[in-house]
Amino acid sequence: MISNKKIGTNNGGEGLHEECGVFGIYGSPDATNITYYGLHALQHRGQEGCGIVSAEGDRLQYIKGPGLVNGVFNEENIQTLKGSIAIGQVLYTTAGGGGVENIQPIVFRHSTGDFAISYNGNIVNSRRLKKYLESKGSLFLTTSDCEIIANLIKKDVNHQGPQDRIHAIMDALNMVEGAFAFLIMTSKRIYACRDKHGLKPLSLGRMEDGSWVVASETCAFEVVGAEFVRDVEPGEIVTIDHHGIRSNHFSAFKHHKMCSMEYIYFARPDSDIDGCNVHAFRKESGRLLYREAPADADIVIGVPDSSLSAAIGYAEESGIPYEMGLVKSKYVARTFIQPSQSMREKGVRMKLSAVSSIVKGKRVVMVDDSIVRGTTSARIVRLLKEAGATEVHVRIASPPMRHPCFYGVDTSTYEELISANYNLEQVREKIEATSLAFLSAESLMKAGRRQELCMACFDGNYPTDLYQTDEEESLYKRYKIKVK
Ligand code: SF4
Repeated sequence: MISNKKIGTNNGGEGLHEECGVFGIYGSPDATNITYYGLHALQHRGQEGCGIVSAEGDRLQYIKGPGLVNGVFNEENIQTLKGSIAIGQVLYTTAGGGGVENIQPIVFRHSTGDFAISYNGNIVNSRRLKKYLESKGSLFLTTSDCEIIANLIKKDVNHQGPQDRIHAIMDALNMVEGAFAFLIMTSKRIYACRDKHGLKPLSLGRMEDGSWVVASETCAFEVVGAEFVRDVEPGEIVTIDHHGIRSNHFSAFKHHKMCSMEYIYFARPDSDIDGCNVHAFRKESGRLLYREAPADADIVIGVPDSSLSAAIGYAEESGIPYEMGLVKSKYVARTFIQPSQSMREKGVRMKLSAVSSIVKGKRVVMVDDSIVRGTTSARIVRLLKEAGATEVHVRIASPPMRHPCFYGVDTSTYEELISANYNLEQVREKIEATSLAFLSAESLMKAGRRQELCMACFDGNYPTDLYQTDEEESLYKRYKIKVK
């Protein structure tokens, strides 16, 4: 019997399953220190490992390890990374995708010069590419998609000189399908690359001293004192070196199918993604949520942190006072990105407390960004009731999540997605809410004034081919996944 775990993102399928953050800088005497602070600002995108590579002369040197940025780096070891050019990454991997060897940046040796890669995303045709590369003699030491990209770049016999590297990268990226934003660094330059669907964010900024920075989220620019310049375009490679920046497009196909979960949940509220501020997006989604699903209540509360903006929007639109009914411990990692179900359940208990003096005797609207497995929502509703809330009206600032993600976000499997298995009333019962409503897909688009977004985990309309095996194909049919 085929388990539908196979077509989820965290139990198999093609490639690694990561949601990560990348940062790079070119032309600063303080390159590694600035990269450290940049990664610190991106820590919410991955807490399992991190690394920095810098270039001193022709030599690439690196430090990486499991854990948080301020655990892996200290004042002493960071001073050993010299040079004016550096890239780094914070890593999140799911079960089966972890391992110290996958912590990035990964350095690759080549006769035309060494290079390093920091990567965010998931290659959906990785299994096929790996087979092809192995047939050509490539050996793989990690399970990271980085290695596939590196081998595709290295294999190109037509582009042997370092000056030809941009062509080798373009050829490689035209073979890769999926969601990615990554940085390739040689001793002389950085290449910042983004997939042709625009699924993952990547932005360019500039420091006062003229050095260039590139990051998964613009919140990193604020921290290091850089000015936002522009986003890397879908299908674009931006080369940064002593000439400044140059642009190459590896594909004429171009879409702006940014992952809607970046706006809903992942990104920091102070980041701007594709020209839209994340807090503003969430607040507007909260306003529209009230218009679609008003509730008769005494107070509005948000589930910290990612739902606070939507809760403020809901409160403003409804005129119901916004209150701080839930408090979160700052020192516990997000439940959504902890590896196992039991860990998640423990995480919920550890990190959230209901404020009894605020919710006692009140009819509460509880705004949350999404419902994935339902365990977190059920636990929070229970917390609020135990603290004395008389009613808990749950309002979700995104549509019901019914499909897994294949693009590097751990949104669980069909088996685990509560809305894939139960209707609205059944979900309401399971989480023990007084009432339950989700935002419509139309309003979500409206919130960001977007024409295009990836909404596949809500509507199953995946923007890429998923390169399924025969077994998987029958499952796609069973679950009516629309594959482009
Ligand atoms: S399927 Fe969902 S989580 Fe994955 S990229 Fe699309 S919107 Fe984001």
